[in-house]
Amino acid sequence: MICYVIKRDGRKVKFDETKIQNAILLSANELDLELDTGKITGLVTEKIKDLGLEEIDVEQIQDLIENTLDDLDLNHVAVAYSNYRKERTRLRDIKSDLMRSVHNIGIETDRDNANVGNNFSSKLLRIASETNKWHNLSKIPKELAKYHEIGDLHFHDLDSYNLTTNCLNIDTGDLLKRGFNTGYGTITPPKRIETAAELSCILLQASQNDMFGGQSHVNFDNDMAPYVKLTRDEIIKEFELLLSTMTKEEFDTFVEQKLHKRVHQAMQGVVYNLNTMHSRAGSQVPFSSLNIGIPHSDDAALICESFLLEYEKGLGKGEQPIFPNIIFRVKDGVNREEGDPYFYLYEIACKVAAKRMNPTFMNLDADFNKEYYDKGILPATMGCRTYVCSNINGPEGPDKRGNIAPTTINLPRLGILAKGNIDKFFELLDSRLNSARESLMHRYDILCKLKVKDLPFVAGEHLLLGSEGLSANDSIEPILKNGTWSIGFIGLAETLTSLIGSHHGESVEARELGYKIVQHIRDFTDKATKEDKLNWSCYATPAEGLSGRFIAFDQERFGNIPGVTDKDYYTNSYHVPVGHKISIKDKIQIEAPFHKMCNAGHISYIEIDGYPTGDTIKSILDYAYKESNINYMGINFHLRYCKDCGHQLLQGSTTCPKCSSNDIQGISRVTGYLSLDERFGSGKIAERHDRISHDGNNTAVYKKNLL
Ligand SMILES: [Zn+2]
Repeated sequence: MICYVIKRDGRKVKFDETKIQNAILLSANELDLELDTGKITGLVTEKIKDLGLEEIDVEQIQDLIENTLDDLDLNHVAVAYSNYRKERTRLRDIKSDLMRSVHNIGIETDRDNANVGNNFSSKLLRIASETNKWHNLSKIPKELAKYHEIGDLHFHDLDSYNLTTNCLNIDTGDLLKRGFNTGYGTITPPKRIETAAELSCILLQASQNDMFGGQSHVNFDNDMAPYVKLTRDEIIKEFELLLSTMTKEEFDTFVEQKLHKRVHQAMQGVVYNLNTMHSRAGSQVPFSSLNIGIPHSDDAALICESFLLEYEKGLGKGEQPIFPNIIFRVKDGVNREEGDPYFYLYEIACKVAAKRMNPTFMNLDADFNKEYYDKGILPATMGCRTYVCSNINGPEGPDKRGNIAPTTINLPRLGILAKGNIDKFFELLDSRLNSARESLMHRYDILCKLKVKDLPFVAGEHLLLGSEGLSANDSIEPILKNGTWSIGFIGLAETLTSLIGSHHGESVEARELGYKIVQHIRDFTDKATKEDKLNWSCYATPAEGLSGRFIAFDQERFGNIPGVTDKDYYTNSYHVPVGHKISIKDKIQIEAPFHKMCNAGHISYIEIDGYPTGDTIKSILDYAYKESNINYMGINFHLRYCKDCGHQLLQGSTTCPKCSSNDIQGISRVTGYLSLDERFGSGKIAERHDRISHDGNNTAVYKKNLL
């Protein structure tokens, strides 16, 4: 006589007929059928008894239920029951994967994100994040969830799918002018530069708690300029008695000296704050960026200069600052050429970049930027590369806007599946683009359910375009309409290799096909923008964890394909593979056209062996910005410094020549931001290992110029 059932987790429970009846009932309900479940249950129980066992496991019972349904010619119910079983198995797998993740995070936070640390708060946040990822995946319609689960698409920041939006260019000037409230009490407009600088950091910190991505000051130097003037007025008032003891000229010099000192201290405060001020449950400093370089006044230029010089000094012992990401905008007639009023700022920016890998540089003479500049709009970039300018639902330009959410296509997989047939490839691409659009539309519907009070600072305090006039209980839909919805791609190089045997760094044929593919994506998003009245855009995805995720799926599915799946990462967006030997000029010329196509964000890197000089950086940028239409660029090198005294070290050396310490910190750029070497994800570790410099035989020149 049957007595016990052995459950999947090994537990023994008493046999209970009603459980069988319930399972059959659920399958029947799915088909809207009226069945005599009692009779079927009786038959199954008979079969179990016939086995003459004392205990039986769950799988055996389920097989018997399926057999019985088949015997009764209820094949459709059998199929429904079998689906029910599969779904239960899927949910169980999810649960056990989740438990495994939670367990692993308890040991060490994963390396999905290069700037998350390892303390209690980060672990707790990672566990919550992992849990909500699974929760969202289980709620997304199965056919959409599948795209993500099997690696056709990647839904970025799945943990935030139902909670918030990605990133924001903060209109800092406007907020400081009108004051704001971060949740308790009103912050009135600042009266001096120190307070303005401090509040600029609070703005980033408060925004970061509402969003899953980064935030930027869209026009930092100009936004700080009014508070330079107020500070000057304050100094004049404080010391006006001195006017009787010195000439007007002497007094002005005295005032300017005092002012410079205070501005420098305020800017040092920004650098220190943005590297220490933890946000998001205390687990990481805000992902911050700051756009400068096009001052509208000499006071703005003073901010720009002081900020760059303070960043150059580094932290307390001279350590490399990780944040903010600085974007220096270059423009002919403003700062690009000798004789331009702010040429000296460009020179300082290059010098600082040579020591600190920051700033990165943006070309306002690229035709697509110039179009806006000439209309009085200053294009800006988020440190992660997000670029927001056009707007089908409101005012253009980056101010108060950001990306809402990106989805990325596994492009190499399409290349592999097309088996060299280009027409077939474009057919697959269209189908994938439609899936990406469909999945983001689902996210749109979910996010529409959020109210202003769910994003209390960025929506409640009207930092986001579209939030004007909304109150706490209104849907955030108008905000969603003003942001961008990006469809990104990864691994153009591997895609081309799988299609025609060479990538765009290797052959003209591949290059032309590469442009055609990315333009195809852009044409799709442009068309969808008109049809859906949403700002669809084409994104050169900064694939951080994703570089390793997609390729792992494809290795398992397709095996080792030379030049395609034979390493641990897919190449970032449209980049020429990091291990491909190519000159700086060729890299610039090949990648430049993609910048215009990828209107949701793009960046090109030049890798330098050893430390460059400011002149080296300037000569690279001069070439790039005069001889091509390239926009956003970062000059990368592997930075190493002594943690005890801040001294920068040569590659390979493990002892500080200044203080003999062996405590050495390495830093590299990952997907736009700087990151400590030990926080790299495995895909990115492999990628960095393969990076070779683009300065060809000239490495000695760069190596010579050390600090
Ligand atoms: Zn040292």
